[in-house]
Amino acid sequence: MHFDRRSFIRSTSLGLGSLALPKDIFSITGQTEKKLGIALVGLGSYSAGRLAPALQETEYIKLTGIVTGTPEKAKDWAEKYHIKTENIYTYENYDSIKDNPEIDVVYIVLPNGMHAEYTIRGAQAGKHVICEKPMANSVRECEEMIAACKKAGVKLQIGYRLLYEPNNMEMERICREKEYGDIRAVESSNAFYARDDWDNWRFHHELAGGGPLMDMGVYSIHGVRHAMGSEPVAITAQSFNTRKEKFTDIEETLYWQMYFDSGVVANCMTSYSARAGHLQVHTDQASYRLEPAFGYGPLKLMVKGEEVKIPHTNHQAVQMDAFARNILDNTEVVASGTEGLNDLKVIEAIYKAAKSGEKVMV
Ligand code: NAD
Repeated sequence: MHFDRRSFIRSTSLGLGSLALPKDIFSITGQTEKKLGIALVGLGSYSAGRLAPALQETEYIKLTGIVTGTPEKAKDWAEKYHIKTENIYTYENYDSIKDNPEIDVVYIVLPNGMHAEYTIRGAQAGKHVICEKPMANSVRECEEMIAACKKAGVKLQIGYRLLYEPNNMEMERICREKEYGDIRAVESSNAFYARDDWDNWRFHHELAGGGPLMDMGVYSIHGVRHAMGSEPVAITAQSFNTRKEKFTDIEETLYWQMYFDSGVVANCMTSYSARAGHLQVHTDQASYRLEPAFGYGPLKLMVKGEEVKIPHTNHQAVQMDAFARNILDNTEVVASGTEGLNDLKVIEAIYKAAKSGEKVMV
């Protein structure tokens, strides 16, 4: 998608930019469009707080099924979202979803350590898959997930909602088109202050795959890769712990540097003991700053000290509608498995560099 700043604002305020086009085609031809059906796998806070509400706003996909291990949740969700009994699955009978024509897509919203298994089982059931970020706990798992989807002939999207978010897209465009010159330096941080709920899977290595780097830092990695429009070649990293009694199984705070072929270095931070969420790009003529950069919005983009006023969108609705269009039109997925895989390559290099104290090639 290409937008100059004026046409970008016009198209987002009219609807969803290029996403509106196929719908117009349907109305011209007089066909009635069938919405795809999606099942949410895992009914935790992101499913309940963001995805199910977003699915009330989507144009091309609707909530038709759920997969849960908790009977009370199944009952509540069935009532609230009018889910048919035959479209409610448990983790045990999940594979039989293959026989359900009302479910085209499964959306894996489980702890990170379960992403690979449920993506692969979903693909083997013949369903298109959206899998939450981080894609998995390792590069090897990401490769297995991509291979399983390819073998089954289904599409795979990673829940990188910001690849469809107008402020982030505009930041990427300005960088790509070198609107104010070549990039010389990049900084990004993403962190939150964890206060309680220490039993949560996020604080345990086996299900989380790591600490804030997996959960929050992945956004900085992703933002930097897209601002740069290229992959880093090497990484250095440093780990710190100001709450040693709490952070025994996972890291608390990480700084890392991403080295690019051009000589540019991106300096990044993530933590479960701080509050941050920004992406800043410096050129020889200007700086561009997204802050907040990674939350659910409204987000704010400053270019050369001036705010670029971009209308807020529902990130999750736009992301899921885009995937539905990819399926309906058989087009390439923007937030592809390769995106998730490339982020995991950087994550593995960061952990290796932090442990060894050495510069690690990606
Ligand atoms: P959560 O803890 O609120 O929900 C996890 C769900 O998994 C729960 O319903 C839980 O019952 C279920 N589950 C099944 N087996 C489990 C097990 N063995 N241990 C623990 N839970 C189990 O988590 P969440 O915040 O909804 O996060 C889920 C996924 O979504 C994560 O991968 C996270 O990174 C991702 N996420 C993405 C965004 C985003 O903006 N894209 C935002 C939040 C979360």
